[in-house]
Amino acid sequence: DLVKDEDLSILEDLGAGNGGTVTKVWNKKRGCVMARKLILVDAKPSVRKQILRELQIMNDCSSPYIVEYYGCFSVDVHVGIALELMDAGSLDHIYRHNGPVPIDIVGKVAEAVLHGLLYLYDVHRIIHRDIKPSNILANTQGQIKICDFGVSGELINSIANTFVGTSTYMSPERIQGAPYTIKSDVWSLGISLIELALGRFPFSDSPEADPEEDDEEEEEYDPDPTLPLNTQRPKLDALKHERRKSKGVSLGGGGHTMSILDLLQHIVNEPAPRLVSKRKTFPSEAVTFVENCLYKDPAERKSPQELLASDWIVKSKVTQEDLRAWALSLSSVNKENK
Ligand code: ADP
Ligand code: MG
Repeated sequence: DLVKDEDLSILEDLGAGNGGTVTKVWNKKRGCVMARKLILVDAKPSVRKQILRELQIMNDCSSPYIVEYYGCFSVDVHVGIALELMDAGSLDHIYRHNGPVPIDIVGKVAEAVLHGLLYLYDVHRIIHRDIKPSNILANTQGQIKICDFGVSGELINSIANTFVGTSTYMSPERIQGAPYTIKSDVWSLGISLIELALGRFPFSDSPEADPEEDDEEEEEYDPDPTLPLNTQRPKLDALKHERRKSKGVSLGGGGHTMSILDLLQHIVNEPAPRLVSKRKTFPSEAVTFVENCLYKDPAERKSPQELLASDWIVKSKVTQEDLRAWALSLSSVNKENK
């Protein structure tokens, strides 16, 4: 039967994000570890009950690409959700602690996310709506799974802060008010894949700034290969100005800031980012794949089925054993398991 909060004792913090805190817990009744997510929900009891009811849909979700659900419950002002613990953590934690993700592994991330999206849509008619590196998790069995999809409309409405600046994986059409489709998730996947491969959020104003290589306020012009030439200089100037005059939103963890409005405007008005780097050459199959995720026109953007049939995915030689070895080699994982 389903997990209750009384069964859980707290082990350690796993992270906090938009309206949620996640803790590693020990389930006394079942004798295993789990992840418990607490979401601050500002709603009356009837709405709370409705949320708990809606979350039960997760009970019917069963796929190797979806983080397993064990139960939900009310904890004072929170709604709690017990989930499978993914012991290698989220992909954003992984690249922040270990540097860019090897491109062949990024390919397996893409494959897993697409399978997860297709499962949710084909079987449950659910659109994920929040694909980003922190909602893609890995474990030391070499599995990659997605979590935090939009199952409960009431929950989406009741989360205390729905807009805390991380909606930056949002597609141009969503920013302009079009309804969510599975193609909006494909856009978010494209942005996430570039972020993993480069080790930084692709829309930051300081291209590929290595923390070590940061020469204070470099006045030298450093072209960003992800931006078209004619937009670079004025863009950088505008961004520097923006950074001085407003606090802005911290992006990509690198301490670079861009106001959320500038970012949304940038996504709508500028060409989409591409998988290119001054330091590395990525395989052309990977570059093409990401390009196909990031057509600004959703009609041109490829569907998950089409993307799964692309060369980058089909020709990958990475096995689950390789993924296992990669997960076990992460310093962020070794630190915890010693
Ligand atoms: P966000 O996804 O916006 O970062 P969340 O509250 O969903 O915020 O999650 C906070 C952090 O908790 C995530 O970044 C992730 O690192 C960690 N986390 C979430 N779910 C799990 C899980 N099932 N297993 C391990 N870590 C998790
Ligand atoms: Mg999350």
